[in-house]
This record gives sequence, structure tokens and C-alpha cells, in this order.
Amino acid sequence: MSVPKLLGLPWDGSSSFLRGPAGAPDAVRTALHGGSANYTTELGVQVDPDRWIDLGDLDFTSEEPAVAHETIRAGVDAAILDGAPILSVGGDHFVTWPIIEALRSRHDQLTILHFDAHPDLYDALDGNRWSHACPFARIMEAGLADRLVQLGIRTATPHQREQVERFGVEMHELRSWDGAVPELSGPVYVSVDVDALDPAFAPGISHFEPGGMSSRQLIDSLHQLAGMDLTLVGADVVEINVDRDVHDMTAMVGAKLVRELLGLMLS
Ligand code: MN
Ligand code: MN
Repeated sequence: MSVPKLLGLPWDGSSSFLRGPAGAPDAVRTALHGGSANYTTELGVQVDPDRWIDLGDLDFTSEEPAVAHETIRAGVDAAILDGAPILSVGGDHFVTWPIIEALRSRHDQLTILHFDAHPDLYDALDGNRWSHACPFARIMEAGLADRLVQLGIRTATPHQREQVERFGVEMHELRSWDGAVPELSGPVYVSVDVDALDPAFAPGISHFEPGGMSSRQLIDSLHQLAGMDLTLVGADVVEINVDRDVHDMTAMVGAKLVRELLGLMLS
């Protein structure tokens, strides 16, 4: 197996409401290596730093989303040349679009498991097709994923419900979710917008949407993947807003997710 790679994405130029996710890579690394927690996952996998490679952060030299898109696509493309799974940390949810573009060039089949309060399926938000509210519309209209499974959703608008129909998205609204992750197979990508969690568990986010998942529900969902016949080819942890965090609680949620996701990649 190739060694997983972690990539920091300090980009929040596509955020519609507040900046802040650009600070997440530093905050999550500090939480991860801060000494308050160990490097063993709940499922018993060692994710000590010598078992994966930290590529550092990509350098965003422009506020222009089209430039950021190319920076991320090219950066991920280089990172996965050897077939390594890629775990990105930080950024607003815009980043998932170019990541998936890079991954799709290597995988004929690709399923995305997307945790979020929001479907992020707007064709455009306030006229902006590059918004962090639109990445999954861009992904699906370009045919970059065969399946998109969404969990944690509690903000679907009529327009976004139309998009769900248009793209055949498997959107599971949190109000009626039974706790089961649908059976997934083949190459799988996991995208975690931490606002899938209730703000009580993750206050360092830009868009408070009460009534969310518990940290336990999210971690249990990731653990369900360990029992499926799939390959985790990549994952992201996005939308941690360090300017809104309280006692680095959300950075530590990010670190926990990084550990569990690395554990899935390594087992
Ligand atoms: Mn999102
Ligand atoms: Mn969200």
C-alpha cells in the first residue's frame, strides 16, 4: 500500500459569509501534534507521523478562484501520482471540486460520501458559480462522480432539491436518517464539512446550523466504512473557521477526523 499524504489547503476565498478556513491547516496540525492525544485510532490503527507524509500547505498567491482551482488541481495531481491516498485539511468547501477533478483522472469509478449541513448544490450563489455553496453542482454536472451520497443535510432549499433530482444525488436528510451509511464500493472519497456536526460540538465554523450530528455519529459513520469492500482514495476536512473556534475545540475535532481517516487509509 502506498503511504497516505496530508495536504494543507489554506484557502477561504470562496466563502460566502465569513473568512477563516484558511487558518485551519495550522490549527489542525497543532491540535494533532499538541501532545494532548495519542496517535492510535479508535479502531486500533497507529497513525504516528512516520506512517504518512505531510506535504505541507499549497501556496495561494491569488484571490482569484480560477487560480486557486488550478493550484489545487495541480497540487493534488502531483500528490497522487504514485497512487497514494490524499487527505486534505483546511479550506472552504470550494476545494473539493478541483481535488475531485484530479482524482477522477485516475479513477473510472468514483463515489463521494459527503457530510455537511448543506447540500452545496447551488448552481450559483449570489451569481457566483465558484462559491463554496456550489462545488457538488460543478462535480456532478461534469460527471466527475458516479455516486454522491450526502449525510447530515438540514438546509435543502427548493432549488437544491431540484438539483438533487437533476443529478441523482442520494441526499439523506438528518431529520429522518437511521444512522446507517449506505453500502459503498470501489474507489470512495469522503468529504467532511465540519458543519455537519451540531455547532455545540464544532463551534469553529462559519454557518451555525443547529440540530446537527454529534461527533459520535460522525465518527461511527466513518467506522462503518471499515466494514465495506471499498478503497478510500481521498478525503477532506473543510470549513473549520479558526476565527470562530472556542478553546481550539473544533481544531481538535479536525485532528480527530484526520486520525480516523488516516486510520481507514492505513488499514
Ligand atoms: Mn459544505
Ligand atoms: Mn456546510
